[in-house]
Amino acid sequence: MRQNGEAAIFFENRPFMLQRVIGGTARRVLDLLLPQDCRLCGLPAGKALLCDGCRDELPRLPAAHCPVCALPVPTAQVCGRCLKHPPAFDATLAVWAYAEPADGLIHALKFRAQLPLAGLFADALLALGLPPADLLLAMPLHPRRLAERGFNQSVEIGRLLARRAQLRFDAFGLERLHDTPPQRDLAWSQRRRNVRGAFALHAEVAGLHVAVIDDVLTTGASLHEVARVLKAGGALTVTNLVLARTPKLRGPRFNGNRP
Ligand SMILES: [Zn+2]
Ligand SMILES: [Zn+2]
Repeated sequence: MRQNGEAAIFFENRPFMLQRVIGGTARRVLDLLLPQDCRLCGLPAGKALLCDGCRDELPRLPAAHCPVCALPVPTAQVCGRCLKHPPAFDATLAVWAYAEPADGLIHALKFRAQLPLAGLFADALLALGLPPADLLLAMPLHPRRLAERGFNQSVEIGRLLARRAQLRFDAFGLERLHDTPPQRDLAWSQRRRNVRGAFALHAEVAGLHVAVIDDVLTTGASLHEVARVLKAGGALTVTNLVLARTPKLRGPRFNGNRP
């Protein structure tokens, strides 16, 4: 019997989850029938979730970025940090730079439960051209956070992405054992230490190429730890699929590549 805290909370919170899911489904049906207001600016957006103006404003990740961690670098080579401290993951695909208004959009799903956005995010990831992964997993939430929020945004996106890309998805393949505090102010090495041992693997991954979905890659400490656990379980390749990549934490601020 596998011990899966996230699964337990999922079922304990079933009535709440169902409300969310039914609410999300009803909203999706309405999305098809009624003209929408743009989720970012409130202007009419036809049948889309975003108006054309806001869609064009989303800060695309520059083409020149590190293939391992997606950090924008002038040369499109593996960045200095990935050379110095190679992460356990092999590659990262990111849709946007973590800047306005992409950050607002990600927050709207995460903290305001705008579940239809999960479909928009799944399509944005799909448009990147996905790697030939054998299995898709989602960055897990600690059961306490899952209980507060009622859903895991990465699972919601992963479920839709898996269906649209015909990938195998295991929503409970990873479990978060420790609720690590916000790491924003910590040095990168400290973040890696903090998340050590934070995840348990429940999926069979030996010999597989595993894709891991997460919303934002900041230092990559959590994704590194997940990839370390996957590699320990025999995964051959680990690719991160993220919506947004933050710029360097220190040094000149990167503002995205607005068209
Ligand atoms: Zn708009
Ligand atoms: Zn890198």
